[in-house]
Amino acid sequence: MSELSFLEGVNRYYDQAEKTLDLPPGLGAKIKACNSVFMVRFPIGFRDGFKVFTGWRVVHSEHYLPVKGGIRYSPEVDQEEVEALAALMSYKCAIVDVPFGGAKGALRINPNDFDEISMERITRRFARELANKGYISPSLNVPAPDMGTGEREMAWMADEYRRMEPTDINAMACVTGKPVNQGGIRGRSEATGRGVQLGLREFFRHPEDVKRAGLAGSLAGKAIIIQGLGKVGYSAAKFLREEDDARIVGILEYNGALLNPDGINVEAAKQWQNEHGTFDGFEGGTFVADSKPLLEEECDILIPAAMEGQITTENAPRIKASLVAEAANGPVTFGAHKILRENGKVIIPDIYLNAGGVVVSYFEWIKNLSHIRLGRLGRRADEARGDHIVTALESMSGKSVPAALAERIRHGASELDLVRSGLDDTMREAYQEIREVFLTRKDIPDLRTAGFAVAIEKISRMNIVMGV
Ligand code: NAD
Repeated sequence: MSELSFLEGVNRYYDQAEKTLDLPPGLGAKIKACNSVFMVRFPIGFRDGFKVFTGWRVVHSEHYLPVKGGIRYSPEVDQEEVEALAALMSYKCAIVDVPFGGAKGALRINPNDFDEISMERITRRFARELANKGYISPSLNVPAPDMGTGEREMAWMADEYRRMEPTDINAMACVTGKPVNQGGIRGRSEATGRGVQLGLREFFRHPEDVKRAGLAGSLAGKAIIIQGLGKVGYSAAKFLREEDDARIVGILEYNGALLNPDGINVEAAKQWQNEHGTFDGFEGGTFVADSKPLLEEECDILIPAAMEGQITTENAPRIKASLVAEAANGPVTFGAHKILRENGKVIIPDIYLNAGGVVVSYFEWIKNLSHIRLGRLGRRADEARGDHIVTALESMSGKSVPAALAERIRHGASELDLVRSGLDDTMREAYQEIREVFLTRKDIPDLRTAGFAVAIEKISRMNIVMGV
């Protein structure tokens, strides 16, 4: 079977789900298509001459404004890839009930080829090009980090926008994923990986779902292989290991992998990678130079967290993991998805599982618009109420409340507590909604189709209410 492109695959998933719905004629085609594509080429002068850079911002659906979606820096990116990612953003936001339309951006660049000063010049110029055409704006189009970008790039973009719009009091809401001291929110950098953990936790709360994947019990002790120890993969692996007792038996990077059947110390491996640029030489596991075949190693859960198109029709027949948890966008091709399903594998789809980033971006945007840290008004009041409860319990019982329990009762929620609570609630509710559709509708064969169906239904309702 020939492999469909990323965009063709996303559109085919869409078609399959749309067929199960009863949309007014023509509306489905409107929802599927990208609304607009902005492509820009701009020069930057260096000592040895000018270099011309190519970037995109694609708006998929404006059923809510602003539209939302990351900006990716990658040497291989093209327009089709950005269109596919923008479409996934619309569906993702709908699934987790975040009131944003979908968009995505990219710059064709290898960030490793440039020093920090050059990256800042390039990023600021790209931000200006986008803002000049309304493709960055707190009310219309709000980028965030993705592959190859992070807090640093978001801080430059926000600052550039603020300089262009000095009288806009909401200027800092023009991008999310900023550093906390520049309008960011606590918990954003970990959010996508945290969401992967919370999504897996919710999956494991349903024994029938776990059984369908050929597994049993909880996340504790489960053998996990993760591909990509970047922003998403690192947080997911770290939290699953430290908080759920899962065993991270393999970490696969583009330049080699680390294997250890007893579990890898993720924190230590990350530190080694940061210092040496590779896992080679790290003592907490066996180093294997060729990482790609290790996707096929024996494990309970495979978490592709690097990039799209990693599990294809070529390697899908050899995948042994019972559960594939898509932390990256589009890591399983359309053809591979079919093969995995035929082989009885369960896939928790990207449009649900990696939505944690956009959920917390939504919280950051709200924080920027309200100009106040979440929890700032209520935290000490909650603590005072907790104190009264402890005092009341002690005076009524004549006994003292154990110190650890008293501490928990007194605790007032911090910004990070609130962000994590909001994310947890969202990931639980969204999984339950998708699952319900999957279990109750005979024409829905898997969680991915259920996710698409849920998203298309919500977006179509908005379109009908607004008038297309
Ligand atoms: P990142 O650039 O921080 O990390 C990607 C990691 O994958 C890097 O460590 C890189 O070396 C590694 N990698 C790249 N190619 C590889 C290969 N062929 N084999 C093994 N490892 C490889 O990017 P990220 O932000 O963590 O994003 C990863 C994926 O998650 C992407 O698909 C992205 O679209 C998706 N995603 C990211 C976010 C977010 O908030 N950052 C949100 C939702 C989805």
